[in-house]
Amino acid sequence: MPAVGARELLRRLHDVMAARNSTQGKLDQVAGLIADALESEVASVYLLRDGMLELFATRGLKQQAVHVTRLALGQGLVGTIAETRAPLNLAKASTHPRFAYRPETGEERFHSFAGVPIIRRERAVGVLAVQHVQPRDYDDVEIEALQTVAMVLAELIAAAGLIDDGESAPRAQRDQSPLRIGGLKLVDGMARGVAVFHEPRIVITNTVADDADAERERLRSAFLRMRAEIDQMVSRAEFAGPGDHDDILETYKMFAFDEGWARRINDGIDGGLTAEAAIEAVAQAQRIKLGSAADPYLRERMHDLEDLSNRLIRIVSGQSGTAAQRGLTEDSILIARNLGPAELLEYDRAFLKGVAMEDGSLTAHVTILARAMGVPLLGRARDLRDQVAEGDPLLLDAGAGALFVRPTQAVILGYQAQTALKAKKQAAFDKLRDLPAESRDGIRIRLMMNAGLRSDLPALDITNADGIGLFRTEFQFLVSATLPRKGRQLALYRDVLKAAGQRTVIFRTVDIGGDKAVPYVEDRGEREENPAMGWRAIRLALARSGLLAAQSRALLEAAAGQTLHLMFPMVAEPWEYEAARAIVEDRQRRLAAAGIPHAEQVKYGAMLEVPALAMVLDELLPRLDFLSIGTNDLTQFLLAADRGNPRLADRYDWLSRAVLRFLKKVVDEATAANVPVSVCGEMGGRPLEALALIAIGVDRLSITPAAIGPIKAMVRSSCIGPLRAEMDGWLATPGTDIRKALTAAAAAQAIQLD
Ligand code: PEP
Ligand code: MG
Repeated sequence: MPAVGARELLRRLHDVMAARNSTQGKLDQVAGLIADALESEVASVYLLRDGMLELFATRGLKQQAVHVTRLALGQGLVGTIAETRAPLNLAKASTHPRFAYRPETGEERFHSFAGVPIIRRERAVGVLAVQHVQPRDYDDVEIEALQTVAMVLAELIAAAGLIDDGESAPRAQRDQSPLRIGGLKLVDGMARGVAVFHEPRIVITNTVADDADAERERLRSAFLRMRAEIDQMVSRAEFAGPGDHDDILETYKMFAFDEGWARRINDGIDGGLTAEAAIEAVAQAQRIKLGSAADPYLRERMHDLEDLSNRLIRIVSGQSGTAAQRGLTEDSILIARNLGPAELLEYDRAFLKGVAMEDGSLTAHVTILARAMGVPLLGRARDLRDQVAEGDPLLLDAGAGALFVRPTQAVILGYQAQTALKAKKQAAFDKLRDLPAESRDGIRIRLMMNAGLRSDLPALDITNADGIGLFRTEFQFLVSATLPRKGRQLALYRDVLKAAGQRTVIFRTVDIGGDKAVPYVEDRGEREENPAMGWRAIRLALARSGLLAAQSRALLEAAAGQTLHLMFPMVAEPWEYEAARAIVEDRQRRLAAAGIPHAEQVKYGAMLEVPALAMVLDELLPRLDFLSIGTNDLTQFLLAADRGNPRLADRYDWLSRAVLRFLKKVVDEATAANVPVSVCGEMGGRPLEALALIAIGVDRLSITPAAIGPIKAMVRSSCIGPLRAEMDGWLATPGTDIRKALTAAAAAQAIQLD
């Protein structure tokens, strides 16, 4: 516990700031104050000057080090804190890998170390650190006290003009040259527009308050306004009726109405902070807690919370709102650190052409929504907001993972050519919509689509796919804060079947676990070394059989009076399939006994994703109604090449002889046993790879909807019989480069590959 209470510490800080003294004198006093309050031998203030963290004031380190000791961002403990904008709390500082000893400070006597960033306009502008001789961990209250002081200090040093907070450079003085910023494709697509910052950076100018009651009142009315705004937003969300956004907004609302959150902020106000400073203090504490969470789901929830905290600070401090509130007036590309799902919904779709963010991940709610809205989205664009200025002309090519700032004429011309070409191709694919995917020599290929969300369903009619060959049921689980209850599962499955009409839908039972973790199922605290080969899919479903039983019931009921197609993911051995099937059959019997309408018939399938299953396939085939090959996982296991590792991209090769020989063996065996076999991995959505699959005998593909047109065009321009014979030859001839051979054969036949 700090020796001085939070309120008293703030009062003293306030006095220091109000006193007539030089800024250096004030900083010296602040260092003394912190040392006294935390009973620490050392308290130091580092500030960012000319890109380096400079020791500006200290109590306890040698005075000759002041204005001499300087560390780069990322260098030493202090540099690490500034770089990551996260505190460090170390009983033995020297054991930290980034520890850098500075002899001029005389710090070798001090073992323990705690430091927090000083943040202004969401950037680290300094670091506040304490050190003790005795090795000890600092408790949460001490770290929070340091954070509070850091917040007040940010105000002091900004007022003194000691820091350049990055906003003062006039635009004209900024670099105006064209720039390419790299990022991660989250939602494919291209867009052109001007840069619009989702929100100006937040500045907290008042941190200390005398009148706690008045602050509490300010907070209360801000909460009321924020909740009303969110309610309003949810009700006018452009997705009328039920949809994927339901679960997302539900989670968001849950946070907004969380009384625990309001209580923690009020505690900060009682400690002497203003309402905005208390909101920020709670957000920072949350950032520390959740920021280190291994669970991607929890990290995503942190974004929801930050989004709400920022919203609340803006309301309470009267700072201008988001660009959505000001309204877009021309074609725009939104620039943000991160966006909350509800925030995205606030924008006018007519002008919102694309989004680029510094954070973001494929499973984030905002990504799922952007996909449903058809808005191209680029994520993980580093230092985006420092490199783009409001109003800059931008060109977004999310597919290529790039944002072009102030694009050159050549880039613009390239973009125009590409969009024209895309439109032309799309028009050509649209013309094929009602024609069958049949080769020139009369071989019919069934083209089904992959889906997982309600928002994918319209694609069935747009593409005229032959059905849904893989419905990834875990998506509903991933976007939900709590386990989707049977009613919600049932409603989704019914909608899917209704949209499909006469067309087949193959539901895959949940493939959660591993990297698709959901907090309500996961075994807490267990971090897996190899999540792809971990406790997931059918392994988890058998261990948590209640989950599979509940899902089976929802599926069986949804398919009342029809045939239900069901398959299990990641089957490695026949007994797993049998055990899972027994659970479904048991549910079916119970429904029959209770007289509840359910599926007339169930057709069972297994996914072949684990190579081992191929070795015992003869034992499983007699029990299967169909087999589906998941080449995404299968390939990574066959080649021992992680499907998500960019350094292994050239080893993860679908056209390698090993992969194709393996696949052919499986396809031949299933075909001989009269079991329909399909491929549902991404491989089938790429024209050359799909051609290879067809050439080894595959005649059913389930692919991403956008690939249906291109694959159909490829099939319709090909003559498959001769290709199959050629493929047999290549596979039998050692050393044949199949990619090369197939490309040449396709060119000879004038097969359309793009
Ligand atoms: C696969 O592994 O090929 C597959 C279709 O499943 P997922 O991509 O969902 O793992
Ligand atoms: Mg898989």
